[in-house]
Amino acid sequence: MYLMILGAPGSGKGTQGKLLAEHLGIPQVSSGELLRSAVSQRTPLGLEAKAYMDRGDLVPDRVIVGLIREILDSQADGRGILMDGFPRTVPQAEAVDRFLAERGEQVDLVLLLDVEEGELVKRLLARASKEGRSDDNPESIRQRLRVYHQQTAPLIEYYERQGVVKRVAGTGVVDQIQARVRDAVRGEALA
Ligand code: ADP
Repeated sequence: MYLMILGAPGSGKGTQGKLLAEHLGIPQVSSGELLRSAVSQRTPLGLEAKAYMDRGDLVPDRVIVGLIREILDSQADGRGILMDGFPRTVPQAEAVDRFLAERGEQVDLVLLLDVEEGELVKRLLARASKEGRSDDNPESIRQRLRVYHQQTAPLIEYYERQGVVKRVAGTGVVDQIQARVRDAVRGEALA
């Protein structure tokens, strides 16, 4: 099963994705985590990505499409994957579709985590003081939200046209949200 978890920064993609991937027994791959580890190891990818990430901008598609190809090739055992943080632009989504189609696969389900803007900002600021991620500062948070609305939200329509989007309310406690997420996946498996 090829699942994608889509939502604004602070919507809980990483947290919910991790729990769901464990539950389903498929790997979760986070493009943000891979990029952060490339930055800390100072690989060529990391060196190129860092400035974009610190500003809250997306790393350019020409860089990310190569990373997506590597991710999908490395997980080609047929079990599927939970995609966390990618695709994030329409060209990236087209690349994913193309790569999956090459092996007769497709995106089966997109879980959209719905959280209102005020709550997102509150969560991101709270995380900033705990985890110290270099892009969790007020300026970069504002930019990430802007970028989400401009470049990533159009994916909702892209995947709605494929009939694979399920919306999940992303507020409440973690376990409650996870229960909703699992219901959405179960509904899909029965369909
Ligand atoms: P968040 O959703 O909270 O911004 P992520 O870990 O998903 O956190 O992403 C952090 C940063 O990594 C993004 O702001 C962006 O710069 C970069 N990034 C992650 N995934 C992608 C992607 N698919 N395309 C372009 N940039 C990405």
